[in-house]
Amino acid sequence: MPQKLLDLFSKILDIIFPPKCGFCGKINKDYLCKKCEVKIKYLKRDSIKKVKNAFFKYHLYAYNYKNEIREKMLNYKFHDEPELAETFSKLMLKNEKICRFLKTYDIIIPVPMYRKKQILRGYNQADLIAKKVAKELNIEYIKDALIKTKQTKTQSSLSAKERQNNVKDAYTYNTKQKIKDKKIILFDDIYTTGSTAKECSRILKLSGAKEVSVLTFAKD
Ligand SMILES: [Zn+2]
Repeated sequence: MPQKLLDLFSKILDIIFPPKCGFCGKINKDYLCKKCEVKIKYLKRDSIKKVKNAFFKYHLYAYNYKNEIREKMLNYKFHDEPELAETFSKLMLKNEKICRFLKTYDIIIPVPMYRKKQILRGYNQADLIAKKVAKELNIEYIKDALIKTKQTKTQSSLSAKERQNNVKDAYTYNTKQKIKDKKIILFDDIYTTGSTAKECSRILKLSGAKEVSVLTFAKD
């Protein structure tokens, strides 16, 4: 579809479904109102931490996974509210320190979902946010560089040790050539014990990535 037509289509959609603040629901073209931005400021972290003994070098995250952020992330994942990706990506992009760091990387890749699970949910929550962040920062985005090859249990229902076993060999690479010798940002919505991040970055390194760092919207 030509770009002009796409723009027009998006304008019409904005009139029928006006953009709303993801937190209070009031109409707001930025998907986030000033009042809510200030209200959740106490959960903002802007963290860039070097990680030892992992296949990834740094872990970056923007918010603590608590209260308002936790509530909205749960809605986003489990209550069919994909439009919250707009609000989360806006919050992520407001973080100058993290954005500056991201721009030193070549590619952003989201943690994939198992195909059947994604069909049921209708979207991959990591993909929706990562795609917007990559586009805005002008970083190459490869959605399908990793594939989830087995259906695992929901990580949040497991202990740290169980989480590690649960994700073991659950991912494989898809586009080995495209990531060879590249600096990669792996994106996921939440970081808890890091089991998923560790396993996915292991696969990316095995596929020839030069360096992997992990970006999550929030940290538990
Ligand atoms: Zn609001």
